[in-house]
Amino acid sequence: MSTVSEADVVSAVNKELFIGGKWAPAAGNATFDVHDPATGEVLCAVADASPQDGITALEAATAAQADWAAHPPRERGEILRRAYEKLMARQDELGLLMTLEMGKPLAEAKGEIAYAAEFFRWFAEEAVRIDGGYAVAPNGSGRFLVTNQPVGPCLLITPWNFPMAMGTRKIGPAVAAGCTMVIKPAAQTPLSMLALAGILAEAGLPDGVLNVVTTTQAGGVMEPMIRDGRARKLSFTGSTGVGRKLLEQCADTVMRTSMELGGNAPFLVFEDADLDAAVDGAMQAKMRNIGEACTAANRFYVHSSVADEFSRKLTERMEALPIGRGTEDGVVVGPLIDTAAIDKVSELVGEAAQRGATVLTGGATVDGPGNFYQPTVLTGVPREARMTSEEIFGPVAPISTFETEDEALAAANDTEFGLVGYVYTQNITRALRVSERMETGMVGLNQGVVSNPAAPFGGVKQSGLGREGGTVGIDEFLETKYIAVGGL
Ligand code: NAP
Repeated sequence: MSTVSEADVVSAVNKELFIGGKWAPAAGNATFDVHDPATGEVLCAVADASPQDGITALEAATAAQADWAAHPPRERGEILRRAYEKLMARQDELGLLMTLEMGKPLAEAKGEIAYAAEFFRWFAEEAVRIDGGYAVAPNGSGRFLVTNQPVGPCLLITPWNFPMAMGTRKIGPAVAAGCTMVIKPAAQTPLSMLALAGILAEAGLPDGVLNVVTTTQAGGVMEPMIRDGRARKLSFTGSTGVGRKLLEQCADTVMRTSMELGGNAPFLVFEDADLDAAVDGAMQAKMRNIGEACTAANRFYVHSSVADEFSRKLTERMEALPIGRGTEDGVVVGPLIDTAAIDKVSELVGEAAQRGATVLTGGATVDGPGNFYQPTVLTGVPREARMTSEEIFGPVAPISTFETEDEALAAANDTEFGLVGYVYTQNITRALRVSERMETGMVGLNQGVVSNPAAPFGGVKQSGLGREGGTVGIDEFLETKYIAVGGL
């Protein structure tokens, strides 16, 4: 139970733009409202940046780049380490702030603060490990000197579903590498990022290294910055549709990109799986973040011999989940982010049912205020149902059956997405064989959560380009320079 009040955590956040180390209103003092998705009520208003405000932020990032690149790596790392400590010290209030703007239950929100902070601790340690090479040319004449330099000013765009962690996963490696940046959080959840900007400033991040623009004109503000030519890198987390558009814009200036896009995770349960462990994993993979995660299990494929038992056990667990405002004790299922999300989930469930799927539990919205949808289990979901090819982004588990391993893999890989897949089997040979054949960037093997700051997160196919976290995460913000040394 949190001891801080809702009003206090909201009022503690600076609601202006953070540019060049100073808080400033948007052009014309424009603002927009931030809502609590559990009640629909307005929490507060924040600055609504114009395209010119975006360019001003890019100018601040560009002006700070050379000094920041020359900053000792150890000091860059120590700033991140201090920010990690501060995030953890304020876990309760930052968790509550996140629950208020995004809806996820408080325990999950606090968990995200710890996960987000861990990216800073990880990249604090990576800042001092940027290395290079020195080698003799193959013909013995001359030397190769290889060094890694910061890419330069970066544009970072984050989604609403993990308002803090999707930011620290980009800011951490950018700071460690010596890049400056402009970050634009999602309009629905700007408060966590504004709070984070304050923490980084307190931790000693020099003015202009991090600039935050909040806006309702995502495209209008970002496109001029992308086309400006001074930014050298775009790192985006969000939907595949928006990612495609941004890639097109980046093509004109051949800007480097990292794209963490949508998912459509298959969850395979073989006949030799530990079924209780598979149900536990299914609950995590499906219900983490109310189902609003790119890693959310979107399609369950269960061997026909264990499908009834798996479906019954999953249904029992889903039915028992307490639904409510994320601030209430014991709540596990918070509201979806907005009415559009509710409409999409309702539409997908209705369409699957029309195509012959059976609703074992749920299948409806919850009466009263807020965007609540019942935890739902469907069986007999046919391939043609839209939810097998589109992200559901809600608490809905569609189950289909298979007979053979090949059939399961064909179904799992039958998607344009390739972020993560889950495999439950106790047969080690099958576990590795299926993991290798899964067309995804990540596999949860007898495990329902894969995210870890120390591991490389990312997808293949239309789930994205590049990796965040792990030892490769910092590479996304570095350019390799080769110096050909003569005279030796
Ligand atoms: P979204 O609509 O693509 O928005 C993501 C971000 O892009 C937001 O900040 C949004 O701003 C901004 N944006 C929207 N249109 C833009 C444009 N034309 N130009 C520049 N920026 C633009 O996605 P979302 O609904 O927030 O997030 C859910 C999606 O993110 C899902 O598809 C999920 O799978 C994906 N996701 C992927 C990962 C991963 O690591 N692979 C992690 C988390 C989420 P506004 O909020 O102002 O519209």
